[in-house]
Amino acid sequence: MNQNAAIVKTLPDAQTVTSVQHWTDRLFSFRVTRPQSLRFRSGEFVMIGLLDERGKPIMRAYSIASPNWDEELEFYSIKVPDGPLTSRLQHIQPGDQIILRPKPVGTLVLDALLPGKRIWFLATGTGIAPFASLMRDPETYERYEQVIMMHTCREQAELEYGRQLVESLKDDPLIGEMVGDKLLYYPTTTRETSDRMGRITDNLSSGKVFEDLGVPKMNLEEDRAMVCGSLQFNLDVKTVLESFGLREGANSEPLQYVVEKAFVGDGI
Ligand SMILES: Cc1cc2nc3c(=O)[nH]c(=O)nc-3n(C[C@H](O)[C@H](O)[C@H](O)COP(=O)(O)OP(=O)(O)OC[C@H]3O[C@@H](n4cnc5c(N)ncnc54)[C@H](O)[C@@H]3O)c2cc1C
Repeated sequence: MNQNAAIVKTLPDAQTVTSVQHWTDRLFSFRVTRPQSLRFRSGEFVMIGLLDERGKPIMRAYSIASPNWDEELEFYSIKVPDGPLTSRLQHIQPGDQIILRPKPVGTLVLDALLPGKRIWFLATGTGIAPFASLMRDPETYERYEQVIMMHTCREQAELEYGRQLVESLKDDPLIGEMVGDKLLYYPTTTRETSDRMGRITDNLSSGKVFEDLGVPKMNLEEDRAMVCGSLQFNLDVKTVLESFGLREGANSEPLQYVVEKAFVGDGI
């Protein structure tokens, strides 16, 4: 256990790290204990953090990547080399403690969309985190006939967290049967050569993804979408979704799509 963990232990809202997995030199996931009182809707985010050298909390927004039925909480994180939080957070180990403010919020929730036939989860990078939660929520499969996960990263290794998660779902004892062949996975790379390439916006605009998956062109009656990526990605996807006739909704006014930033800033 590192020194920071020992300090945090004395704080309210401390949770214990139960496992850590490093996916690339820029990405890792980890699980922590779940406060007994914490209820959340799949897709929401919370504030998590660590103490700095002076004992001051450094808190950042994090999507909960685990489903709401899970006993623990999972997070999927970037490692920003000079990032105030993640330069430290990337070194956590099982037994360490983090701060977790148990006040979940967010727009990427099923209640913010009108009923439909298909739901599209559109993410770049760590933007897949809220969908890692929603893909494991039985309610997603109760509400929609088809669930389509489009995830785009520069390189194949950056897709691995999502790829392994999707693969594991079909055999999952709890929701495997519900998932069945309803979940369609469409990962692409933008830099490294792979079987499927290209930006989400391009694959939607050109109609390639509809052709590849054998689904109708996105339309107002049947399709719903959730978007999570950089500010620019979100803006670009919004334009494409609007071109198909979809309109942005919210908790207070459910419509055809909702958007959330995967981080604040320009991205790296
Ligand atoms: C609603 C919301 C949900 C979020 N959920 C997650 C999550 O599930 N996982 C996660 O890793 N981060 C998430 N973030 C970003 C997170 O809050 C922090 O920004 C991130 O952990 C880096 O913290 P930092 O203190 O090290 O650097 P910061 O000072 O916060 O960020 C430094 C710079 O790094 C870049 N950056 C930050 N986060 C990312 C990222 N995830 N991917 C690519 N570039 C990034 C930005 O350009 C930013 O300006 C979320 C942000 C918001 C607003």
